[in-house]
Amino acid sequence: MPSLVSRLRSRLGVHVLRVSRLLRSRASSIGLGLAPVLLAACSPGPPAARPDVLLVTIDTLRADFVHSYGQAAEITPRIDELARRGALFETGIASSTATAPAHASILSSRHVRRHSVGPFNGETRLEGVETLAIRFRDAGYDTAAFVSNVVLKARTGLDRGFDHYDDDMPETEANRLLLFERLSEQTVSRALEWLAVPREAPFFAWVHLQDPHGPYTPGEPWSAIAPELPLRTDRELPVLKVNRGRGGIPHYQALPGVRRAPLYAGLYAGEIARSDEQVGRLVDAAEIHSTRGLVVALTADHGESLDEDGFFFQHGHAATPEQARVPLIVVAPGVPPRRIEGVVSHVDLAPTLLELAGLPALDVSDGISLVASMRDGVALPRRTVISDIGHEIGAYDADGYWRVRVFDGGRDFQRWQRLAEGSGYEKTDGPELPAEIEAYLRESPELRPAHAMSPEDLERLRALGYLPPRASVRPPGPSGTTE
Ligand SMILES: [Zn+2]
Repeated sequence: MPSLVSRLRSRLGVHVLRVSRLLRSRASSIGLGLAPVLLAACSPGPPAARPDVLLVTIDTLRADFVHSYGQAAEITPRIDELARRGALFETGIASSTATAPAHASILSSRHVRRHSVGPFNGETRLEGVETLAIRFRDAGYDTAAFVSNVVLKARTGLDRGFDHYDDDMPETEANRLLLFERLSEQTVSRALEWLAVPREAPFFAWVHLQDPHGPYTPGEPWSAIAPELPLRTDRELPVLKVNRGRGGIPHYQALPGVRRAPLYAGLYAGEIARSDEQVGRLVDAAEIHSTRGLVVALTADHGESLDEDGFFFQHGHAATPEQARVPLIVVAPGVPPRRIEGVVSHVDLAPTLLELAGLPALDVSDGISLVASMRDGVALPRRTVISDIGHEIGAYDADGYWRVRVFDGGRDFQRWQRLAEGSGYEKTDGPELPAEIEAYLRESPELRPAHAMSPEDLERLRALGYLPPRASVRPPGPSGTTE
């Protein structure tokens, strides 16, 4: 397949060039322009008193497809059960609308320009910062992660602090054979094996489920759970030649014989229902194996466009609410059921989980602990949190958001105000961009290139015919795709 090999080679060249250029151009002026929150350390209790902690992230789950966040179809009974038992945050904002940077923000508690992954999705590596897993491990926790998306493989540095990092991905995505993944049943089975090992120490486990990420192929019985869901567009769509763009089905999402938009929405719901069942299986097992009290936090890395601004079934192209709003639910001992208004962020998860475990906060953090609001109903402070995809940021506050588009030599912005009723927004003649957002835009991430692909993955590519024997190349980053 000479054309495929040459296409791959040219992709590799582009990625290497992009990262090295960025490393050169951005290495000089890095700093935390906005004053990082230096969180006061709380006194750690004895290890025996600390709870087990389970962090679940679901790929590509927009908030309004969770029943307890307003989806009419009851496709998420197990997530809804968590929501009924703990704190549900009404407006959770993803730190990015791409997988790797969002997870880097969850684990490091830093906005995207303040960690070394930056807005890149597979080409860069998390390094040089303290993470949630490091803090748990250093406090005596057994730590493990089970991930299912190729951009979360250990080569991107998200394994830092995990004693056990299971990134085995035996599947290839239906329409992009270069992208490995793992189905949620398999990922959860691996996590269950690890949870069942008898241990003295508390555990911190992060489990990432991939299924709602396209292509939407939930299989039976999930494909029939919501045969179709209404979208503004109820017509057949063309299939685009590319993986990102307006007015049609992205190439990687195309399913044989399926063209009507509401059918895709129904299949997306099916993937969510399938993941929800695995969330239940995972939480049930964690509860059985936890002997010291269990904290469960659940969120998504980002949402998905379903006919917003002409985009269908894709993400990572903007930081608007359909992609940036995610579910965020925390169940913990001593936390009563509560729905909490106000804007919260991925970066709040680490300080919250650490306080629930009686551990000191990370030394540097853009987040705040949400524990007082969860336990005692203390109102969240008014603040702005950032969703950042590099060429665009969404800066969200309690009243709405700024959509800021960034281009060479400048930026433009719009202010969108939250409507009094419902969860919608309307564009307004906003005031000037606040100084703190301008300051954030002046920051640049101190990028680190990802490690090379593993010999096993290179071998897998060779077996698929994508690499010549003994090829010596850097791995492809899936930039230009929608991870
Ligand atoms: Zn993702």
